[in-house]
Amino acid sequence: MMHPSILRHPTQAVRVDDIIIGGAAPIVVQSMTNTDTADINTTTKQVHELAIAGSELVRITVNTSEAAEAVPHIRRRLDALGCKVPLIGDFHYNGHRLLTEYPECAQALAKYRINPGNVGKNRKGEDQFAMMIAVAKQYDKPVRIGVNWGSLDQDLVVRMMDENAKLAEPKDVSEVTREALIVSALDSAKRAEELGLSRDRIVLSCKVSEVQDLIAVYQQLAKRCDYALHLGLTEAGMGSKGIVASTAALSVLLQQGIGDTIRVSLTPAPGGARTEEVVVAQEILQTMGLRSFTPMVTACPGCGRTTSTVFQELAQHIQNYLRAQMPVWREQYSGVEEMTVAVMGCIVNGPGESKMANIGISLPGTGETPSAPVYVDGEKTVTLRGDNIAEEFTRIVNEYVARKYVKK
Ligand code: SF4
Repeated sequence: MMHPSILRHPTQAVRVDDIIIGGAAPIVVQSMTNTDTADINTTTKQVHELAIAGSELVRITVNTSEAAEAVPHIRRRLDALGCKVPLIGDFHYNGHRLLTEYPECAQALAKYRINPGNVGKNRKGEDQFAMMIAVAKQYDKPVRIGVNWGSLDQDLVVRMMDENAKLAEPKDVSEVTREALIVSALDSAKRAEELGLSRDRIVLSCKVSEVQDLIAVYQQLAKRCDYALHLGLTEAGMGSKGIVASTAALSVLLQQGIGDTIRVSLTPAPGGARTEEVVVAQEILQTMGLRSFTPMVTACPGCGRTTSTVFQELAQHIQNYLRAQMPVWREQYSGVEEMTVAVMGCIVNGPGESKMANIGISLPGTGETPSAPVYVDGEKTVTLRGDNIAEEFTRIVNEYVARKYVKK
């Protein structure tokens, strides 16, 4: 689904195994592992977890011979688990060598990420870039030309700064740096085309860590090319800062129809789940009306009318339950991901919001009669009381899903 107010920037459609990035295809959610790729067990496990969470592509770093050797094993293990998620290899510095010396790795990967700032300098860099493109052609794999602020080709920056300094009215340094990112990506993509890679095998990205810079860079990219665009704020950070910064940057661009695949680069808290970045990416797309992944819970923030924690606990229980059920429901029912559920704290907005959701419950606020009316498709159907409200409401949700959505 695409919200009618959003007009997608037209791009080439790039096939990555069974997934399409760009063209008229839905915006694709992707993620990246943080395991040692050479550790086949832990990497397979994390890729599988990310895929179950809803990541439609998963990128793994391929930085050593051991990692390159591990890739085909990881692919086979995933296949044995019934996990078809395409694997993307992330290459820096030695990608030309790893891709040519480990053909099974080159074959097992569905796409290669090349960072033009890290392929080498001058003639050597050009040759190494050409070697990677030759492998992509040989195995018919798409490539992401992924430029990053932190590893931008410094020779290019210096040259563009020198040219800028000679201008009668030199531009701002940050503007020149942004332009260097764009030039690096576009020149590398052009070079890949000259080497025989077709336009529909190229995805571009220019990642920066500041929101306004990212918006400015991608607006320019969209004006100047029709390559499929991979969107993401790099090094977004931890916790709410990372989520807010990513959401702010991506939302502005997505609203303008820019971006064909997204990744949210969150730093997990120690012991935190890597899958959080997938959940955030899905929620950005779903709250903007661009795609549906899991039933959405509308919950009021609570206030002085809800002094007990019952309401917060129920909202959390339902949200967790819906997300946990989705891998099963997704296989069983069509359209369940578009269901809306309201969990409200008192009579002020409770009945109104509950009636607008597919299923809603309005809990009693402080001083109200201890009863919780439940609304199904706008009609009040039952009033729950007592200590088992959460279990009874969950049962009502399950019955509604089984009755309302078409079995696959
Ligand atoms: S619905 Fe009731 S409890 Fe929730 S924020 Fe509004 S007034 Fe407060």
